[in-house]
Amino acid sequence: MYNFSDVLGQDSVKQHLQRAVEADRVSHAYMLIGEAGMGKCVLAQSFAKLLLCEHNTRIPCGVCHSCRQIEAGTHPDVRLLRREKPSSISVRDVREQLAEEVFIRPFSGRKRIFIVPEAEKMTPEAQNAVLKTIEEPPEYAVILLLTESEGGLLETVRSRCVKLKFRPVSERLLSAYLQQSLLVSEEDAVLAARFARGIPARAVQLLQESQLKERILHCIEIAAELPGKKAGEFLREQAWILETFEELPDFLSLLRMYYRDLLSVKKGCTGNPLIFSGQERLLVREAGELTMPAVGAILDEINRTEDRLKANVNPEVSLELLLRVIQKGGRKG
Ligand SMILES: [Zn+2]
Repeated sequence: MYNFSDVLGQDSVKQHLQRAVEADRVSHAYMLIGEAGMGKCVLAQSFAKLLLCEHNTRIPCGVCHSCRQIEAGTHPDVRLLRREKPSSISVRDVREQLAEEVFIRPFSGRKRIFIVPEAEKMTPEAQNAVLKTIEEPPEYAVILLLTESEGGLLETVRSRCVKLKFRPVSERLLSAYLQQSLLVSEEDAVLAARFARGIPARAVQLLQESQLKERILHCIEIAAELPGKKAGEFLREQAWILETFEELPDFLSLLRMYYRDLLSVKKGCTGNPLIFSGQERLLVREAGELTMPAVGAILDEINRTEDRLKANVNPEVSLELLLRVIQKGGRKG
């Protein structure tokens, strides 16, 4: 049985929705914005439970017929939009499962809720079909568009939705949760929480990958040993990174943590405050090799690499530029 409490953090989003129900001012269209793995879908379904719970409490009871049907995915008034093609949501998907169905009156006599995961995958035609529904919705309709970035949706659609943004979960909250629910050590939990950038599902996934630590360690070694590498080894490391990290920004955030640690060591910091406190000897050694401005230059280059990736520069090219700067100890060219 899941509930609002199963979504970590996001207090302002939860409060907004709870208050809307209490005040009987539920909007017809919401946009839940946040990275994958933050719990948008669970929150949307919990909201549906709240709207339809037979016990009318501030928190869905979880035991009434309605709550149990939503949990099982069989409630006739709650529709989770499924798409035929994995890559896009077609106008047909929207028509059949939302635009036409919205006119069927709710069986519960209360609300009919439509949840659209990965709404940015709607084609423009599909979005326009949703728009028509949002413009003149039946009074019982509630449409929840879940998306990683609102930029993927038409301005006309966006402007008609109440926007609720999901924030990265704090490291403290996330690591406490990981320790409790997965029974992992504090060190592993903190590492996963930091590496996952506040996204709970990512942190859980990371902890379940047994080679997480080895992988992280190897990344640090690459950064530390790159300056002495010959061309062939350089290419091998580059290939390993591209192969290991489906998402290059993950590698970049790892690298950033490492260089921030180096800065901390240079400022005299030791022990627990360091992210890679288990690798302190290596950190101390490397901190001795690089000057403050050199570490700063590498951190700047990591930021630039992120910008390049966002601007759709080829990942291989972006990575090579960065690795060259690291190889030259922060110097360019
Ligand atoms: Zn209930």
